[in-house]
Amino acid sequence: MVQVLKTDIRYIKGIGEKRAGLFYKLGVHDVDALLSFFPRTYQDLSNTYSVTEAPVNEPCVLKATVASRITEHRIRKGMVLYKFTVTDSLNDIAVTVFNNKYIADKLKMGEEYLFYGKITPGFGKKEMSAPLIEMIEGQRIRPIYRQTEGLNARAIEKTIKTAFQLYQEGLIDCLPEHIRKAYHLCSYRFAIEHIHFPVLQNDIEIARKRLIFEELFVLQLGLIQLKSRNRSLTGATITEDNSDGFLSRLPFHPTGAQKRAVKEAVQDMKSEIPMNRLLQGDVGSGKTAVAAALCDTVIKNGFQAAFMAPTEILAEQHYHTLKKLFQGSGTAVHLLTGSTIARDKKVIKEQLKTGEISLIIGTHALLEDSVEFHRLGLVVTDEQHRFGVAQRSALSGKGDNPHLLVMSATPIPRTLALIIYGDLDVSVLDEIPPGRQPIETYYVDSSFRNRIYTFIKKHLDEGRQGYIVCPLVEEGDTELKAAEEYSRQLSQDAFAGYQVGLLHGKMKGKDKEQTMRRFAAGELSLLVATTVVEAGVDVPNAVIMVIENAERFGLSQLHQLRGRVGRGQHKSTCILISDAKGEEARQRLEIMKETTDGFVIAEKDLNLRGPGDFFGKRQHGLPLLKIANILTDMDTLKQAETAAKEILNDDPLLIKDENRLLKEAVETLFQDSVQQGFN
Ligand code: ADP
Ligand code: MG
Repeated sequence: MVQVLKTDIRYIKGIGEKRAGLFYKLGVHDVDALLSFFPRTYQDLSNTYSVTEAPVNEPCVLKATVASRITEHRIRKGMVLYKFTVTDSLNDIAVTVFNNKYIADKLKMGEEYLFYGKITPGFGKKEMSAPLIEMIEGQRIRPIYRQTEGLNARAIEKTIKTAFQLYQEGLIDCLPEHIRKAYHLCSYRFAIEHIHFPVLQNDIEIARKRLIFEELFVLQLGLIQLKSRNRSLTGATITEDNSDGFLSRLPFHPTGAQKRAVKEAVQDMKSEIPMNRLLQGDVGSGKTAVAAALCDTVIKNGFQAAFMAPTEILAEQHYHTLKKLFQGSGTAVHLLTGSTIARDKKVIKEQLKTGEISLIIGTHALLEDSVEFHRLGLVVTDEQHRFGVAQRSALSGKGDNPHLLVMSATPIPRTLALIIYGDLDVSVLDEIPPGRQPIETYYVDSSFRNRIYTFIKKHLDEGRQGYIVCPLVEEGDTELKAAEEYSRQLSQDAFAGYQVGLLHGKMKGKDKEQTMRRFAAGELSLLVATTVVEAGVDVPNAVIMVIENAERFGLSQLHQLRGRVGRGQHKSTCILISDAKGEEARQRLEIMKETTDGFVIAEKDLNLRGPGDFFGKRQHGLPLLKIANILTDMDTLKQAETAAKEILNDDPLLIKDENRLLKEAVETLFQDSVQQGFN
C-alpha cells in the first residue's frame, strides 16, 4: 500500500478529532480503511414516484413539490418537529422532519425535491416521517453505509468523498496489468470511486467485480503460500509407485475416485515436500482402502506407516479391517493402544524402533515420547484430531518429516473445503462403491411415535439393532427429549424387556467406549444417544436410526447420523421425527428424503443456511472478508485461484518488483488472523 494511505484519518483536512473518533468506533483508522469502508447498500434515486403512485409501507423515493410553509413544533426540550405538505398537484402527503433545522431552512416552497422514506396511511392523509431529503439535481445513486450514532450515511459519504479527492493519486493498482486484462477488471482507482459514488447501476457491478476478485485473489495467494511455507523437506520421499498392485489385490474393484485419490497422494509423496493432504469422502465411500494403499506404498518403499484413530475401539476396528486388506501383501499389521498389555507394548515399541514392524494402528498413544520409529514415512489420521502445532512437531520428530493424510467424513462443498482446509491439499471420494442398499428415509410428526416403536421392536426381535437420537442431554427445554430421561422411560415402558443403552457427550470417555463396545457386541439392542454417535463405530447390524426433533439439526449433521446405519447387508431405515411447522424446516427435512449424497446435502445446507455452519465448526483462523462472499462468489473464487497459481508459478515468493504491492496486500490480509489457525 502506498504510504499516504496509511495516514490517520484525523489528519484528513476538515475531518476533525470528534468525527475521527466516531470512525474509529467503526474500525476505520486510516485513509486506506476509510476508502475500503464499502457501502452496505445503495439508494437509487433514479426510480422515483409521484405522490399519487407511491407505494405505502415500503421504502420509496418520492418526487414532490413543497406545497406549504414549514411549521415548527417544539414538543419538548431538545425535540423540534418541522411539518409541511408536499404534492404532485393531484394528491398531498404530510411530511415530518425531526430536529433538522438545517434541512428545514433550506427547503423552499414551490420547489421540487426527492424524499426517501416510507409512506404510512395516517389519519385521513398519508404521511412520511423523517425522510432523507435530496435536491433533484446531482448524484442519483447514493451509498448507504453501516452507521454509528452521531455519524449518518451522508456524513460518511462526505468524508469519503473528501478523502477520495485528496488521496486518489495514492490508489495504485496492486493487480498486475496482465491479470487485470485477462479477467476484464477495472483499475483500482475506478473501482474505489465507483463503489462509493456510482453514476449508473452498472458502475457498481464493475467496481464490485474488481474488488471481489482482488480480495479473493489475495486470499488465494496467501493460502497457496501457506501450504508450501514452513515445511522442511521430508526424508520419506518415495521413488516407486506400486499402488496398482495393492489395489488389484483388494477383494473389490476400487472406484475411479479411490484410484484418483491414491494417485494424487502418491504424486505428493514422490516430492521432497511432505504430503499434507485431506481425504474427504462421504461415509462408506471407502477411505480406508485408499489409506491402506498408501500405507502399503510407503512400506514397499522401505518406510513405516502409522494409522491413528481417535478412540481405542475405533483403532481396534481399523486394525481388523486393515488386517483383511493387507492379507497377501506380506505386511503384518500391529495394534498399540492404552490397553495393550505392558509386555506386548514393550515388544511393539522395540520392533517399531528397529523397523521390524512396518504398519502400526493405534490411538494418540502413538505420539508419546516413548514410541520411536525407525523410518516413519506416513501418518494417517482422522479429522477429529486435526494436529495442532505441538502434535505436528511431535509427529515430525517421530520421523524425518513424514507425510500426513487426514481423513474426513464431513462432505463440504469443494470450494469451501479449499478455504477451510487452506493448508491442506484435498482429494475427494465423490463416488460410492456400487451395490449398496439405499437407506430408506421417512419424515413424520410425533403422532407416529407409537407406530415407530412397534416398527423398531419388530426389527429388534429379528436380531437387529437401532439408534434413537435426541438433541440435548439435560432436561430443561421441555419440548426436547432429553436423552437421559428418555432412555430411562423407554427402557421401563415401550422397550421394557429390551437392552437399552445410553450414550451422551457428558459421559467419561471410558464409559462411552464401554457402552459403544456393548452395542457393537450386540449386548445392547437399542442405543439412545445424542449426536456423539455421529462419528462412531461401525455396527453393521444396526439398521434403524430414529432422530427426534430433527428440525434442530443441520442437514449435514442429519446426514452424518444417518450414515450410522446402512453398513451391513440388511435394509436400513432412517426416521426423522419433527413437529416443526415452518416451511423452511419442512423443506430441509424433505431434502433428506430426496437424496443420500452427502455432497448434494452439504451444497443445499450451504444454500439454505449459509457458510456459517461450516466455518463455525472450527477455529479456522481465516481472514475476514470485506466485500467478497464465499457463498455467492464461488465462480470468482475459482478464477482467483487459477490466477493466483499462475502468478506463484512464476514468482513463488512474490519478490519480483511487479508483485511487490501484492505481497504487501497478502501480508495485510493475513496479518493477525491466520497465524494461529494454520499451524
Ligand atoms: P469410509 O469412507 O466410511 O471409511 P470404509 O473405508 O469403511 O468407508 O468402506 C466402507 C465399506 O465399503 C467397507 O466395507 C469396504 O470394504 C467397502 N468398500 C470400499 N471400497 C469399495 C469398493 N470400491 N467396492 C466395493 N466395496 C468397497
Ligand atoms: Mg471410515
